[in-house]
Amino acid sequence: AKGSGRGTFCHFRHEMSDQLAARKRLEHDLQRALTNGEIRAYYQPLVRLSDGRVEGFEVLARWLHPDLGMIMPDAFIPIAEDTGLIQQMTMALIREACSDPMHQAGQHYLAINISASLLNRDLCAHVVKIIQAVGFPAERLELEITESALINDIEAAGLVLAQLRRAGFSLALDDFGTGYSSLTHLRKLPINKIKIDQSFIATMTHNPTSRKIVEALVSLAASMDVEVTAEGVETSDMAFQLRDIGCLTAQGYYFGRPSMPSSVNAFSPLAHDQ
Ligand code: C2E
Ligand code: CA
Ligand code: CA
Ligand code: CA
Repeated sequence: AKGSGRGTFCHFRHEMSDQLAARKRLEHDLQRALTNGEIRAYYQPLVRLSDGRVEGFEVLARWLHPDLGMIMPDAFIPIAEDTGLIQQMTMALIREACSDPMHQAGQHYLAINISASLLNRDLCAHVVKIIQAVGFPAERLELEITESALINDIEAAGLVLAQLRRAGFSLALDDFGTGYSSLTHLRKLPINKIKIDQSFIATMTHNPTSRKIVEALVSLAASMDVEVTAEGVETSDMAFQLRDIGCLTAQGYYFGRPSMPSSVNAFSPLAHDQ
């Protein structure tokens, strides 16, 4: 027993150090990745449920690592946040997305994820500078903020958000319903849109409680004149249920997975002209 216990411990230690080594490697590579343009924007469509029209695209970061292949954001966004590289990364993604001729020519909006650490008084000026340089209208850029980002200091967050609204940007509360004080945020902050978290959508077709929560969020949003998007729509069943509930827009694998700009063309209103 003694021997096996020791073996288990050593095994555990090895796993820990493997994980640590993998993280150290990504940390080390990330600065180079930004310099070399390895972090790329993928786009997932946001669709109007009444007729399937694409209203916008969410920008989702992908790391195209030369040795390790594609790395998903959950594996590197936390590292970017811890190292402070998230600022440079986010601004590079905004520049890439907003300077893309297809997005410039379209009528759709682009939605970009904003980490908590970027929600400060400099954010607005940084974003404005980039979109002015590439000639993209603020009215077609939406900033997605997760609820947890607002917990620390809701007064300070409110000032930053108000500044962003004055500059013309739209503001969406991401993963809505999963935070501690969703309703307070909705009441106190100048938000245009809520994105209902995919955990509610995933269960709504077979769980009456989830369905009721989604219904309540949709009517709450309507009564407050806030737009609503359902995230994580994977089946036509979910899409029809949401439409019948009165949810106007949705996003999910059923409509399209995040993809490179080249394959995004298929969803573009422009593509119909060809
Ligand atoms: P999120 O903002 O909630 O983005 C939605 C996530 O759900 C994306 O995962 C998307 O690919 C995935 N998804 C979309 N439709 C479906 C569906 O029908 N079913 C399921 N199961 N999943 C679906 P992804 O791309 O892996 O991104 C994960 C998270 O990483 C994002 O969650 C966001 O919080 C963060 N992230 C991604 N890009 C950025 C970025 O540029 N900056 C920051 N700060 N965070 C980012
Ligand atoms: Ca998001
Ligand atoms: Ca989300
Ligand atoms: Ca999320």
